[in-house]
Amino acid sequence: MIKVCKFGGTSMADGTNMRRVADIVAADDSRRYVVVSAPGKRFGGDTKITDLLYETYRNVAESGETGEAFLKVKERFRGITAELGLNYEIEKLLSDTEAEILKEKSEDFTASRGEYLSARLTAALLNVPFIDAREVVKFDEAGRFDGALTDTLLKAALKGKKRAVVSGFYGEDAFGKVKTFSRGGSDISGAIVARAAGASLYENWTDVSGFLACDPRIVPNPEQIRALSYKELRELSYMGANVLHSESIFPVREADIPIRIKNTFRPEDEGTDILPTSKYRYSGRTVTGIAGKKNFTVVFIEKSLMNAEIGFTHKVLSVLLKHEISFEHMPSGIDTMSFVIDSEQLKHGVLEAVCEEIREAVHPDNLRTYDDIALIAVVGHGMSRNVGTSARLFQAIANAGVNVRMIDQGSSELNIIVGVDNENYERTLNAVYDEFFKES
Ligand code: ASP
Repeated sequence: MIKVCKFGGTSMADGTNMRRVADIVAADDSRRYVVVSAPGKRFGGDTKITDLLYETYRNVAESGETGEAFLKVKERFRGITAELGLNYEIEKLLSDTEAEILKEKSEDFTASRGEYLSARLTAALLNVPFIDAREVVKFDEAGRFDGALTDTLLKAALKGKKRAVVSGFYGEDAFGKVKTFSRGGSDISGAIVARAAGASLYENWTDVSGFLACDPRIVPNPEQIRALSYKELRELSYMGANVLHSESIFPVREADIPIRIKNTFRPEDEGTDILPTSKYRYSGRTVTGIAGKKNFTVVFIEKSLMNAEIGFTHKVLSVLLKHEISFEHMPSGIDTMSFVIDSEQLKHGVLEAVCEEIREAVHPDNLRTYDDIALIAVVGHGMSRNVGTSARLFQAIANAGVNVRMIDQGSSELNIIVGVDNENYERTLNAVYDEFFKES
């Protein structure tokens, strides 16, 4: 059995935390490959190494010098080395890195050095080989991640190595330049290594014990989710639950590898498992989790005999396409159609222009917009098994005195989306949570 462990920024924030990481790895012989982020915040108000490196790059671009920001980076890594009592030539590593930053003059290269340095130190601490992501994680000429090449190179690099530390967040493009993933991208790196290693589990170590069934800032002490499927993760994370983003784990999803979210600061907690459909078992819970977001706008279009008018939807969608607007949902009826759109995209006159163009394109009988709408996604495979789920959901919302503005049930029966006024968001979340999680 092989486990790949990814440790996030808080787990790497200082020497004490890195010792915890070493203890966690040592506690289980199957934890063979480790992927690390750059040191993150040690306390509220602290600055992440990656942010200091972006600042370093700006300094280099403006003045040709790494400046104050890189002094802080050096101080952090010196501190970590001293705290860990590592016998390591840190000064040379730091000055070589600084020279390369000045030579490369690249934002991605500079930003990637946090992971590079933290992986070097972690490898020294664990006394295992270091694998530079640059050698094994590749992007193609168009800048897209090259999964096939990466898999081949990584497999070759891991072969014969019982253990290794791989730097997260970056790789190399087809022109030999370092390129990073988007922010938080070490989650992707961990998933890539898990796939190449043929891992039976991808452990993602962070500073919380997994997913909660609802946002704890809104619902007091929500239950922890023990297990959810990839599909449920997708629904919950795009609606705001952000421990781990569903897009970032595509390599393990494709390879059917389960993920376990674990807490570096409470390793004894069970965490949350994210399972491929083939390994998912019904938990007995009707609803797995509830997530939501505020600030959506609904564009509502009505026209009699809309259903018979060929190309109606096409014309409306062309307007959205022209303005490069993506929509979240499209609840529709026989003579009505509506689009739920993140209000952010409709600012500065865009909404007015879109409405005008829809009017011209399809001459609706009625076109209205509603803003300040919050969406709440009630997610769970269990909903399709249990009769009366939506009755319970809407009764609970009605009992809370909240008016439902919109309903959309995904065709998968995996989620029901409810739109309410922004001002009722918190009340609705609490009512729905109480209904489904305080049931027994
Ligand atoms: N260090 C990078 C960031 O802050 C990547 C990561 O931690 O996943 O975004």
